[in-house]
Amino acid sequence: MVATSHPKWHRAIADAIRDPHELTDLLGLPPTLALESQQAANAFPFLVPRTFVERIRPGKPDDPLLRQVLPRPEETACANGFDTDPLHERQALRAPGLLQKYPGRALLLTGACAMHCRYCFRRHATAPSLAATADWQPALDAIARDPSLREIILSGGDPLSLADESLAEMIARLAAIPHLRRLRIHTRLPVAIPERVTDGLIECLASSRLTPIVVVQVNHAHELTAACPDALRKLVRSGIPVLNQSVLLRGVNDSPSALIALCEGLADLGVLPYYLHQLDPVAGAAHFHVPVGEGKRLVAETRNHLPGYAVPRYVQETPGQAGKTALA
Ligand SMILES: *Cc1c(COP(=O)(O)O)cnc(C)c1O
Ligand code: SF4
Repeated sequence: MVATSHPKWHRAIADAIRDPHELTDLLGLPPTLALESQQAANAFPFLVPRTFVERIRPGKPDDPLLRQVLPRPEETACANGFDTDPLHERQALRAPGLLQKYPGRALLLTGACAMHCRYCFRRHATAPSLAATADWQPALDAIARDPSLREIILSGGDPLSLADESLAEMIARLAAIPHLRRLRIHTRLPVAIPERVTDGLIECLASSRLTPIVVVQVNHAHELTAACPDALRKLVRSGIPVLNQSVLLRGVNDSPSALIALCEGLADLGVLPYYLHQLDPVAGAAHFHVPVGEGKRLVAETRNHLPGYAVPRYVQETPGQAGKTALA
């Protein structure tokens, strides 16, 4: 039991870096960067696992992975049109932890994040996720009452932060609802802590009556180094479809070369680029904004270099729409 309840990935979550000074020390960066981050970290805590930090280049304040995790003073600035609930998630809550905006599919918000991405649209925790111990019954009852639902998406927080036993129980309870056919997992854990992709996890996903689909989130090709490629390949080779979604981020992937390297790196692993999201206008993330016109030109350039299947759909989420809006 001890071995299964404290696997390696679980220790990696517990051992994540929570003090920006430790990060700047480790990476040989000026301590002023950590000092400057304090106020922003008070609003949305700093959190990054060491397995992600291994992929940040030392001594480079502009590193695209560092930019995704280190709080910046810009986060505390107010920006027009950027607010705490940009997607109006509060209105879409069907039961605690259950969010439905689109026909046929609904999101179950489960688990906790293994890292805090500074651009995250849920950074203000507008629709709190269900912890491992929370009561899932009201959400499961609402799903059971709605035969139009075909697919449940376990989303964040991060559902793969749940222990295998909790995840297996959740999946079993969903599989017992006859009208459900597919189970999608939206997760950043195979990237944040690649050790999370264990044989037990794959068995848990692959053995369900529900068809599993895993959607990871990688924003820059450098994330696909260290243990991450093997973890993704392991998922792909198990036969589970693996897709990727990225967010278009200023200073991270807003150049043709960065976007092409990312898509190509994913395709090399058999992971299909699914969506490139226009940044949701969440308060604190305005410095990541790339205008839509520029995004369209970037995607057009990507299309000139890559096979069609390796070009993600550039989309935006607009409150009140029955699906994501295609931008290119
Ligand atoms: C993005 C999203 C989905 C999934 O949309 P797909 O186009 O099926 O990937 C489902 N529900 C909500 C609330 C979403 O934001
Ligand atoms: S892991 Fe996902 S939900 Fe969590 S902070 Fe990052 S983007 Fe947001």
